[in-house]
Amino acid sequence: MDLYEYQGKELFRRFGIPSSDGRLATTPEEARAAAEELGGQVVVKAQVLTGGRGKAGGIKLAEGPSEAGAHAEAILGMDIRGHVVRRVWIEKASDIAKEYYLSVTFDRGEKKPLFMFTKEGGIDIEEVAAERPDALARLHIDPLEGFQPYQARRLIYGAGIDDSGEQKQILTIIQRLYEAFVGADSMLCEINPLIVTPDGEVKALDSKFTVDDNALYKHPDIAEMRDLESYPPEERAAREKGVTYVKLDGEVGILGNGAGLVMSTLDVIALAGGKPANFCDLGGGGDAEGVVDALEIISADPQVKSILFNIFGGITRCDEVARGILQALDRIDIDEPIVVRLDGTNAEEGRRLLAEASPENLCVEPTMLDAAKRAVELAA
Ligand code: GDP
Ligand code: MN
Repeated sequence: MDLYEYQGKELFRRFGIPSSDGRLATTPEEARAAAEELGGQVVVKAQVLTGGRGKAGGIKLAEGPSEAGAHAEAILGMDIRGHVVRRVWIEKASDIAKEYYLSVTFDRGEKKPLFMFTKEGGIDIEEVAAERPDALARLHIDPLEGFQPYQARRLIYGAGIDDSGEQKQILTIIQRLYEAFVGADSMLCEINPLIVTPDGEVKALDSKFTVDDNALYKHPDIAEMRDLESYPPEERAAREKGVTYVKLDGEVGILGNGAGLVMSTLDVIALAGGKPANFCDLGGGGDAEGVVDALEIISADPQVKSILFNIFGGITRCDEVARGILQALDRIDIDEPIVVRLDGTNAEEGRRLLAEASPENLCVEPTMLDAAKRAVELAA
């Protein structure tokens, strides 16, 4: 789960990482009042779950409350790369002498958290990594050994920070960022830019914070930060029903068991010349309840012209899935043709059940490729 900048900064505060004082606003009036309270120059910042807000005009400096209100008026409702701005963060403006970049994420290859730090912050870090890799200092943390200050010093020297005041502050920030990363079960903590003010104070001007969805049960306070309105309505409905669903832009509705199988189903649909309408993973089970929920969500998408069920029975038994499909069809009306491919445990029994009931609008194909071809044909 991705957090908004202001939520990430809230976690930064809890872990003792310095940032500027600010307030959240959802209307120009609130923005004006927030600027009044903060006093002096403020920045009005669009809160959207995407980067590059500055370039898109979603970040504006204001001299005082009335200008803050006017900027909020312009920014609220703005579309930034497909994300509509519904909240702005009003923050005390900072004077910036330098912009650095600091992040910690997982290096899956090394199976360790990886810090990246460079003096060339503020801009796209991918650009720095591609064009001036030497400018990007990297440090792996052994998860069992834990964070060691001497390693962080190496990171700081590696990036070429020679001011002792900065070194000291950044060392503390690195340590606390690691605590935040582990403490919040994060997958990414990024500060871009990490600024140095003309007075030599180091603080986080931005935050990008991603928390592992599978660990949210341990952090009810963070789970509560989820903004359901930031998801498309179908994804919201799916989430409420516990179905893993991602909307795509094609016309073949996809339903499979297991993320890997669903991913390869998307590929096979493309191979057959079609375009998938969604990614939908039933997970391990194939009971009627799960099938009904998934079918309801998929068929609610007006772009869907046909539906492909791709089931490989491992622990899941195909006869159970077949019963689930038949019960689901009894309970809801589906207008779109359904193509089913069943293979693996009890596949024959499952196919027999479907053949026996032979519901209208449903056909069974022997292989994944045949099923994909058929579903694409039916969607045309
Ligand atoms: P992003 O564009 O989504 O990454 O948003 P950031 O929060 O990183 O802000 C982008 C840029 O806006 C920063 O790199 C700064 O140059 C500028 N900016 C943001 N806040 C302030 C501020 O308080 N004072 C000044 N002078 N510039 C700011
Ligand atoms: Mn940024």
